[in-house]
Amino acid sequence: KIFDKVRKEKQFMKLHNITKIYHNKYNIIEALSEITLEFKLCGLISILGPSGSGKTTLLNIISGKDKNYTGEITGNNNIEIIEQQFMLFESLSVFDNLTLVASTNKVIQILKEFKMLDYKDKIVKQLSNGQKKRVQIMRSLLVEPDILLCDEPTAALDYEDSQFVLEMLSVISQKKCVIMVTHEVAIAEMYSTRIIKIDKGKIQVDKIIKE
Ligand code: ADP
Ligand code: MG
Repeated sequence: KIFDKVRKEKQFMKLHNITKIYHNKYNIIEALSEITLEFKLCGLISILGPSGSGKTTLLNIISGKDKNYTGEITGNNNIEIIEQQFMLFESLSVFDNLTLVASTNKVIQILKEFKMLDYKDKIVKQLSNGQKKRVQIMRSLLVEPDILLCDEPTAALDYEDSQFVLEMLSVISQKKCVIMVTHEVAIAEMYSTRIIKIDKGKIQVDKIIKE
């Protein structure tokens, strides 16, 4: 009963001194060293950095997929990761893919919200990459996470599709914390509220672009 009264507040995610070491056969690689970061309720955060700088390692730790690190993570958020691959059932319709995770009502509502209702009965394999990415994002959103992680969301997309997906993430980030890894500096500068640059496992820049 006491637990009913003391309703826990949402504690937002904090990373304290996260260090990640990979042990290979011949050497030891410090992929992340003493990363300390704090996230907020909403905003679009871009994580930028050259190949091999530790971006994917960081996403895997934030998502909970990788628990083998030193340091501490606090917070009690539900996290969804939007992987680079679409991870959809290609031979099912958009609607069937989405109703796997949520009710018909919620699915219709989200299709309307993102102007995708016309695609409801399309088979996923007939969609363009940009449309698939939007379906994948909607499916992740239907799970109602507090934090949405995206690994290179525009990697397989042309310019127009990229704009569409970023607009969508931008809208979502008004109410949720969206963290995306990207190579594309111009895109990050245009859409993000905050940019974190990492290099060799260390944070080089952490700047707020807009509130
Ligand atoms: P990014 O996503 O920025 O390209 P990664 O997080 O994939 O970088 O990798 C960071 C560093 O850790 C790199 O030096 C990479 O070679 C190394 N690394 C990544 N995954 C492994 C692994 N499973 N085993 C050994 N080393 C790894
Ligand atoms: Mg990577």
